[in-house]
Amino acid sequence: MIASHNPGKVREIADLLAPFRAEALSAAELALPAPVENGKTFLANAEIKAKAAADASGLPALADDSGLMVAALGGAPGVHSSRWAGPGGGFAAAMKKLEEAMAGKEDRRARFACVLALCWPDGHCQTFEGFVHGRLVWPPRGTNGFGYDPVFVADGHDATFGEMDAADKQAISHRADAFRKLIKACFEG
Ligand code: IMP
Repeated sequence: MIASHNPGKVREIADLLAPFRAEALSAAELALPAPVENGKTFLANAEIKAKAAADASGLPALADDSGLMVAALGGAPGVHSSRWAGPGGGFAAAMKKLEEAMAGKEDRRARFACVLALCWPDGHCQTFEGFVHGRLVWPPRGTNGFGYDPVFVADGHDATFGEMDAADKQAISHRADAFRKLIKACFEG
C-alpha cells in the first residue's frame, strides 16, 4: 500500500508501480490516520510513515519523504520543505521566503532529495534515496508540477521543473531516481 494521503504522490507512485503488476491502495482509501512526521531526516520520516501504514494495514507499505536542499542555506529547507512558509503559507509564499533568504548569495546550487521507505508488517524496511542536482532561478517560471518546481532548473537544462512536462521531469527527478533503485532491488534482483 502507498503510505500517503497526498493524491498527487499516490497517483505518481501508482503509475510507477503499474508495469510491475503491483496493485496499490492508498492510506486515504484504507482510512488510516496520518502519523506525526517528527523525524530529523528524510529517511526517518519516510520510515515513520511506511511503518505506521504497514502496522495498521498488515500490508507492505511504501512511503515517500522529499524536499529541497539549498547549498547556501546549509541544506534548508530540507525536511521542512512542505511547511517552510508557516501554517497556510503555501508554495508561493515558500518560494518568496526562499528568494528573500537567498538575497545577496551568489551560490545558487540546490538539489531535490527523495527517500522511499518500503516497510513490511514484520517491521523490516528497505530504503532508497534519489537526488537531482541543479540551481535556483528567479522569477519563478512555469505552472506544471508542484512545490518549488518553478524556481528549480536541473543541471544540463534551461527549463525549470515548472516548465517541463510531467514525463520530462519524471525522467530526471529525485523521485524517479529513488524509484529506479527500488525497482532494481524488488523486481529485477
Ligand atoms: P513531504 O510530503 O513531507 O515529503 O514534503 C515534500 C515537500 O518537498 C513538498 O511539499 C515540496 O515542498 C517539496 N518537494 C518534494 N518533491 C518536490 C518536487 O518534485 N517538486 C517540487 N517540490 C518538491
